[in-house]
Amino acid sequence: MRKFFTVTAAATAALGGAMLTSAPVQAEQFITIGTGGQTGVYYQVGGAICKLVNRGTKKHDIKCTHTTGGSTKNINGIQAGDLDMGVAQSDWQYHAYNGTAPKQFPKGAFKELRAVFSVHPEPFTVVARADSGIKTFDDLKGKRVNVGNPGSGQRGTMEVVMEKMGWKMGDFALASELKSSEQSAALCDNKIDAIVFTVGHPNGSIKEATTSCEANLVNVDNDVIRKLASDNDYYAMATIPGGMYKGSDNDTTTFGVGATFVASTKTDAEVVYQIVKAVFDDIKRFRKMHPAFANLDPKKMIVNNLSAPLHEGAVRYYKEQGWM
Ligand code: GLU
Repeated sequence: MRKFFTVTAAATAALGGAMLTSAPVQAEQFITIGTGGQTGVYYQVGGAICKLVNRGTKKHDIKCTHTTGGSTKNINGIQAGDLDMGVAQSDWQYHAYNGTAPKQFPKGAFKELRAVFSVHPEPFTVVARADSGIKTFDDLKGKRVNVGNPGSGQRGTMEVVMEKMGWKMGDFALASELKSSEQSAALCDNKIDAIVFTVGHPNGSIKEATTSCEANLVNVDNDVIRKLASDNDYYAMATIPGGMYKGSDNDTTTFGVGATFVASTKTDAEVVYQIVKAVFDDIKRFRKMHPAFANLDPKKMIVNNLSAPLHEGAVRYYKEQGWM
């Protein structure tokens, strides 16, 4: 958290005209939230939270900005002290806190990680070009697939799925590592056959892919996936409703995670309290800020998909509301 001091006009006047420098009166706190690519939903989560927080800057002196990144990058950024808070998939929240993913979190269990609330559901989404011959998830083998950039949650989740499916990167004709904001153009330019994106719906990336060229959602539903979803609390089977995207009129069955909002014990409790208050005091407005937020229910948001303990600043607000 970076602190800056602002000087009010009254304070400067009180110090007298002879003084050129003046004492700090009020600390403004600049908070940075790690999100995801501009065409995903995390970016919208960060934007919505910051918008609500910044409406009250005069009252609480907190100014909020958000950056791009992705689940694992955000959690590592919080641990390193580069970010104050961030959005992360429920599976990566679990692994970071429990130290069960050394590749993504080489420093081991991040016991200072704190959950704040959960946001929208994120189905593991596969979109394939209509001319690619990909009809089922198993057809991805041998194709040109964007597996996602390192640091993104979808890349990590894709690696988990690949391991369970017995696939190696070399089993694809091409395994590209494009960022989510680049993948749809690559699909429609015929540089790749399919994209894999764990993301809320609807989102700009999949809209772009399905409107700029002929592409459709692919079911991710086989015995391996069903077992993966039932064996792990942070996964569940999921449905992407038909009609949401051009070319995909039927429901798509897959598995998914939940998007969550996290911080660390180092994130100031008053700051977390004010951010949580800004969101939940105005939850009706928040719900309207993106279609993926339309059904958010505060009582579920403070329980579902959270594996790290709740941040003390968040607990203070939830208790005040009688939610805990
Ligand atoms: N679930 C993705 C990730 O971590 C991001 C999705 C989005 O940008 O909305 O990294």
